[in-house]
Amino acid sequence: MTISVWLQNLTWEEIKEKIADSRDTIIIPVGSTEQHGPHLPVGTDTMVANALAETAAKEANVLVAPPLWFGWSPHHMVLPGTITIRPDILVEVGFDVIKSLHHHGFDKFILLNGHRIVNVTWLQIVGERAKRKLGVKVVIFDPAYMSKTFTGDMEWGEVGHAEEIEGSHMWYYYPDIVKMDRAVDNPHKHRTLYHVDPKYSGDTLCYIPSSPEEMVELTRTSGGTSGEPSKASRDHGRAYHEHLVKRLVEVIKILQEWKQ
Ligand SMILES: [Zn+2]
Repeated sequence: MTISVWLQNLTWEEIKEKIADSRDTIIIPVGSTEQHGPHLPVGTDTMVANALAETAAKEANVLVAPPLWFGWSPHHMVLPGTITIRPDILVEVGFDVIKSLHHHGFDKFILLNGHRIVNVTWLQIVGERAKRKLGVKVVIFDPAYMSKTFTGDMEWGEVGHAEEIEGSHMWYYYPDIVKMDRAVDNPHKHRTLYHVDPKYSGDTLCYIPSSPEEMVELTRTSGGTSGEPSKASRDHGRAYHEHLVKRLVEVIKILQEWKQ
């Protein structure tokens, strides 16, 4: 019988065994619960992190912690279903999750971020604090940063929101819960001073999440999408998933070699 890679599905005896088997390594998926246009569920960011974690964990024989379904999402509060947690609170929760798991013997952590640039800020604080206070190893694996060489081949546009990248990935891994026929394109408009895509090579201002008030008009005209989900395909979603899983397994192996 194969046992689940998800910590929450196991007994403490099974977990004890897996800590040793995994060389003390665990993935913590982190996402958000926020609107993703008319075609993707509000859990999208957490679900894409879960999908990558699940496949990579099976391949690399490590465990996956219960995902953190909440992120910092003030800029999506205009539409129903979004839940935003203040980053100060997220830092505390993230640190306590690592501290608890470390107490049981884990000392190598992969924070797998499905909520892109907005979660990176507080995850960096969590990672630094955990390294300094607990002496553990922490990395942040972010699909937008880890697929820069790949997304150009797909002829996808830049990172946006609920666009062809998330659409393809969700369509591949969760075909029963996407509604791609409901997708409405909102092509990127060229902005000279502000980009969220890590691939953008020009000068750019740093990101500060918009307030709900600032987002009212944009959300009304865009319907909650930024990009062109009509370009999404299941095949490209599979290729993207496989590319990222390969990178994630590489990262896990490198981390497992780490000695204190
Ligand atoms: Zn998203």
